[in-house]
Amino acid sequence: MIQHSGFYIHGKVCEPRPRKTFTSLNPATSETVATVCQVSVEDIEDAVSSSRAGFAEWSEMPAAEKARIMQRAAVLLRARTDELAELEARDTGKPLQEALQIDIPTAADAIEYFAGLTTTLHGLHHDLGTEQFFYTRREPLGICAGIGAWNYPLQIACWKSAPALACGNTMIFKPSELTPLTAIRLAEIYTEAGLPDGVFNVVQGDGMVGQRLVRHPAISKVSFTGSVTTGQQVMIDAASYHKPVTLELGGKSPLIILDDAELDVAADTAVQANFLTQGEVCTQGSRVFVHHSLQDDFLRRVKMRTEKLVVGNPLDRKTRIGSLISERHLQKVLSYIQQARSAGAKLITGGHRVTDGLLAKGCFVAPTVFADCTDEMPQVKDEIFGPVMSVLTFTDEKEVLNRANASEYGLAAGVFTRDISHAHRMASQLQAGVCWINSWGATPVEMPFGGFKASGLGYENGLEALRQYTKVKSVYVELGRQKLSILDNGSTADR
Ligand code: NAD
Repeated sequence: MIQHSGFYIHGKVCEPRPRKTFTSLNPATSETVATVCQVSVEDIEDAVSSSRAGFAEWSEMPAAEKARIMQRAAVLLRARTDELAELEARDTGKPLQEALQIDIPTAADAIEYFAGLTTTLHGLHHDLGTEQFFYTRREPLGICAGIGAWNYPLQIACWKSAPALACGNTMIFKPSELTPLTAIRLAEIYTEAGLPDGVFNVVQGDGMVGQRLVRHPAISKVSFTGSVTTGQQVMIDAASYHKPVTLELGGKSPLIILDDAELDVAADTAVQANFLTQGEVCTQGSRVFVHHSLQDDFLRRVKMRTEKLVVGNPLDRKTRIGSLISERHLQKVLSYIQQARSAGAKLITGGHRVTDGLLAKGCFVAPTVFADCTDEMPQVKDEIFGPVMSVLTFTDEKEVLNRANASEYGLAAGVFTRDISHAHRMASQLQAGVCWINSWGATPVEMPFGGFKASGLGYENGLEALRQYTKVKSVYVELGRQKLSILDNGSTADR
């Protein structure tokens, strides 16, 4: 059934005037899921005015009251897991099973966690002797913009809005135009939980709408998730207004398997690290460096596991590989597969579009593994954002560290070894914002998440996120009489 979706300003869905609309497709079937109203310049002004009013109320509300509202929102969100997961699966093409297990629970986790931190925000008091002291106030920034990518739409909306709101800010959120639906549901849930109108508004539209938010003088901060190129543009635009940005961008992350690794665990994890959400994950462990002595055993295990993954209708609970987000993206992924072949990589499994039966209407690619890869091959260097694993071999630690770090990206990295001291040594040398040891992909909300190098700026989650959404004001207090050097002539007689 086709839905009509508006945007969400001041506690309600808005679509009053005739507007430009765009469609949101289910990429697994090419059917229209919804027609969505694109906001106009006037609508953005409405969202900003509403957000200003929301800020006046929200920033002054006692922290415990804010926490109770956010906790109620987390409960409501969890209670609607089935409905939201299905909507997310239709909008993104990802397997329903994943949306149920990952997208919705982790979105609720973020609201719950930051609700709990709301009452812990505090400044400090510092004595400077008996007559002077200062204290600091941790103040909200004001109206923040959140701009999302299409791979984890609801999770991204919550990772951005929860810390922003917990710190007393308001947020205008723009989901990706490819996945506009669950952000509206989140806004409805916040309102139902008691969030004052205007504290969380959702605007819909393409990159121009995103850019208008970034360039809007009333918006104090931008938190962006998306590609490196767009992130750079966001940073340039934000710089003109001196506004801080948090950027969560792309990656090409190395997963390193040392010669003493438990091979079954490493193979299981490499498959998950590459094929979760059809590889449309920013932390995808797409450069798999395996010690040369393990290569054959590793490839055998990976091939067997990969070929068991069911490619199919995302709404079927058995499906593990759903549809890519769009035909355009599918063509990009297929082109990288072709380039890998031309460059001499050895195809172990997959390597083609899946068009069996009804899948022909969608954007399905078989999970693909290449061996005999070299660092210069296009599929090894570039972020593909699809189900393509490149396996490379190495002989010694120094070599693999150098090669792992020789990337413009620095989002995630991982090491598999039974020698835990060795793992920590390597983690300290890997240039990545997140390092996993004998694991891959876990992003608990308590753990700061952010990229090094071209992969981003700033952090989401954990206590670090609170710093991204507050500014510190120092208040110096003189209890006696200030010593004024400029007037000090050695004598105090005339003062
Ligand atoms: P994208 O950069 O094309 O779009 C992201 C968002 O930015 C969309 O909402 C889009 O409308 C908006 N936008 C486009 N131009 C803009 C502009 N000039 N100003 C402001 N907003 C603008 O990215 P995408 O294709 O939606 O997402 C895929 C990328 O996101 C991949 O590179 C992936 O690695 C990255 N990603 C990173 C993380 C992370 O946490 N590091 C998470 C998910 C996705």
